Amino acid sequence: MTTESINVSRLFEKWILDGDTKLNEIDLVLKIKEYLESQHPEICGKCTPCRDGVVKMEALLDKYIDGTATIKTLNELESLVINLRASRCSVGLDIGKNIEVVLENNYHVLYKPVKKY
Ligand code: SF4
Repeated sequence: MTTESINVSRLFEKWILDGDTKLNEIDLVLKIKEYLESQHPEICGKCTPCRDGVVKMEALLDKYIDGTATIKTLNELESLVINLRASRCSVGLDIGKNIEVVLENNYHVLYKPVKKY
């Protein structure tokens, strides 16, 4: 595990332990993406939810970063997170659990830019 991924893991532990921990909107998206990228070396490619889901989630987060995200983007992100529950091992299960906790505690951050009204 690299030093960077340890730092990101600590950040996620903090989020998990403290639901009130908030980051500004762009930081949250960037940190989630940074976390997903840090997991690439752990992903073996044997199952779809983890192998394909993580890179798809990163592409969806890019839409937030470049300002093209819509409510469909958020819905797809949520589906991919739920799909990770079907991962074959703890790598995918942990990624899904971590992102699920972050979404639960910071849903408004991802919803605000895409809500219609
Ligand atoms: S969840 Fe486990 S088995 Fe599936 S791709 Fe990720 S590392 Fe491989």
